[in-house]
Amino acid sequence: MRQETKVVTGGRHPERFGGAVNTPVIRTSTVVAETVADWNRMDEPDYDGMIYGRLGTPTVWSLEEAVAELEGGDRSFAYPSGLAANVGAVVAFVSAGDHVLLTDSVYGPVRRFMNNVLSRMGVEVSFFDPLAGASVKEHFRPHTKVVYVESPGSLTFEMQDIPAIAAEAHKIGAVVLMDNTWGTPLYYKPFEHGVDVSIQSATKYIVGHSDVMMGLVTAKSEHAPKVQRCRQDFGLIPGPDDSYLALRGLRTMHVRLAQHQKSALALADLLAGSASVERMLCPQRPGDPGHDLWKRDFTGACGLFGVVFKPMSKKALAAFIDAMPLFAIGASWGGYESLVMQVHPEKARTVSPWTDKGPVIRFHAGLENIDDLLENVEAGLTALGKAL
Ligand SMILES: *Cc1c(COP(=O)(O)O)cnc(C)c1O
Repeated sequence: MRQETKVVTGGRHPERFGGAVNTPVIRTSTVVAETVADWNRMDEPDYDGMIYGRLGTPTVWSLEEAVAELEGGDRSFAYPSGLAANVGAVVAFVSAGDHVLLTDSVYGPVRRFMNNVLSRMGVEVSFFDPLAGASVKEHFRPHTKVVYVESPGSLTFEMQDIPAIAAEAHKIGAVVLMDNTWGTPLYYKPFEHGVDVSIQSATKYIVGHSDVMMGLVTAKSEHAPKVQRCRQDFGLIPGPDDSYLALRGLRTMHVRLAQHQKSALALADLLAGSASVERMLCPQRPGDPGHDLWKRDFTGACGLFGVVFKPMSKKALAAFIDAMPLFAIGASWGGYESLVMQVHPEKARTVSPWTDKGPVIRFHAGLENIDDLLENVEAGLTALGKAL
């Protein structure tokens, strides 16, 4: 089966639900047994029914089954947000005294968790240049247990040589965790490139409609029990209604992504031609420093990209953004709607400083008609020219 078909068929079991095409929303905390024997049966290792709401219901299991199949792992575990999945995955693999090594281009709130929480728990945390490749090994310590990558990087879009990094990490027995939100389960197959555990902010393209927070951690079978145990110990589980909506979003993800990809490229090409633009942060475009890696490892791109402008006044930047009403200013991405915002990589980096002086603008290409979006950006660039 091709992956577009798996998007449609994955995790569906109509025979279990009276023929219903979708797994129903099963809301429950308590799961009751009628006899002591039935109750005791729930403790047996091969028991695969419901036990208690916090341990999941068929609604969330359908989602997990579908995503595990798409990402190419053995098991997926859902979390109530992408961030909960990011940190839940890391915590599953470390103890006090261990070392976690993360890319300097990591999603900001993950960095904050590492510095504020994990460090406080006696775990060493350090960061490496996202462009390091195999030289990542220079940052290994005797107790490095987790190497955490994200490609392309949050805000800055550097491509990482994941197979090279993973090969070094495996030599010292470290586990490679990857935030694969940008690549999506369709356009990047982490387990084919040496990744051990893949993390999705499903809030983005899996949900796809800007109405649910959701995360997923997918692992090979050797690592899945640790992830599952840790999620249970933290009491994390998404609600059944949210799980249902995430599944509904998933069923059209391949169709939506094709348009996000096309529109993003058209917008990036338009912006790249502007005299006000210093450079594009868009690995799917030829000429991007990460383009060769993208072409080697990815089969597509999503709707998110960045633009580094030449230095300009705050007034000119505001004129540009305000002249594009179809691009609302907002965090997150992956929904049907276009978004724009200024981001600040210079504030985040610690080991590979961001040296560009001009503003960095992040675009999300939504599903509006592309000509309307292009006209908006043209109007923005005209307003910018006048305000300079
Ligand atoms: C948004 C995002 C997250 C966090 O997901 P939430 O669902 O917002 O908690 C993690 N990683 C990346 C790359 C993201 O863009």
